Amino acid sequence: MLTQSTPIQSILHNQDLVLDIKRLDQIHPFVSGNKFFKLKYNLQEAVRLKKTSLITFGGAYSNHIVATAYAAKQYQLQSIGIIRGDELANKPRNATLQQAQAFGMQLQFVNRTDYKQRHDPQFLAQLQQQYPNSYIIPEGGTNQLAIQGCQDILTIAEKQYYDVICVAVGTGGTIAGLIESTTAATHILGFSALKGDFLKQQIESLTSKTHWTLHSQYHFGGYAKISDELIQFIQDFEQQHQIPLEPIYTGKMMYGMFDLIAQNYFPKNSKILLIHSGGLQGKASLMP
Ligand SMILES: *Cc1c(COP(=O)(O)O)cnc(C)c1O
Repeated sequence: MLTQSTPIQSILHNQDLVLDIKRLDQIHPFVSGNKFFKLKYNLQEAVRLKKTSLITFGGAYSNHIVATAYAAKQYQLQSIGIIRGDELANKPRNATLQQAQAFGMQLQFVNRTDYKQRHDPQFLAQLQQQYPNSYIIPEGGTNQLAIQGCQDILTIAEKQYYDVICVAVGTGGTIAGLIESTTAATHILGFSALKGDFLKQQIESLTSKTHWTLHSQYHFGGYAKISDELIQFIQDFEQQHQIPLEPIYTGKMMYGMFDLIAQNYFPKNSKILLIHSGGLQGKASLMP
């Protein structure tokens, strides 16, 4: 689909810590970051099954929706995006939805009650019956093939060198792949972009390995909730390091990371790798 080029950049390098970032955001402007890895085996499977379209689910700012729309176009597949919020149907499209439409995705807006059925096996069976030639990808792209794809994020050398790998968590697919691809010699640290503790169980349902920790205190009020403090942090970080962040996932992870470092959370000489999971496509509509 695309070539992968993910350089590693240094953020901090002193006698106490090595802090580097792996720039998955540079893979592609639309299929950026983790969504590339989550989609790649799913696309192969859709082609193998001779499906002619992709169907998936997402909110109005979903990076996964744009990534899927682009990937479908690349593979000459049709795509349907089932979007949360029927009130959006008659409103001007935001940048994310505009982009998805520009890639040929057909958008279906559903109310929040109907959207809640998105994981219901009976609903999905019905949807499959209605669209027999479609390959259905869950919200956020998380399924077994996505987890398999995320096992390809780290190189062997990276797994050997770093003690800690950090990543932002939404549905848990990416962190599950990172956990599955490493041994207990590497600790995987997740930063939840959502409020609440259910994500921990979600990750436990995706992997049986235990060398990971989820930090759930850096959600800033919940999914896609943004404060002035967070915006200021992101702007200061960008100015200092010339690395763009967005406020839903990577900004919150980085904020949490700096907070943990300030608390001396990490043992001396820790070598830490942050995953820049991308998501920059929707940034303009979210930040001043
Ligand atoms: C989707 C997304 C995540 C979360 O990935 P999950 O596999 O759903 O946990 C993290 N960062 C960015 C930028 C994303 O778009």
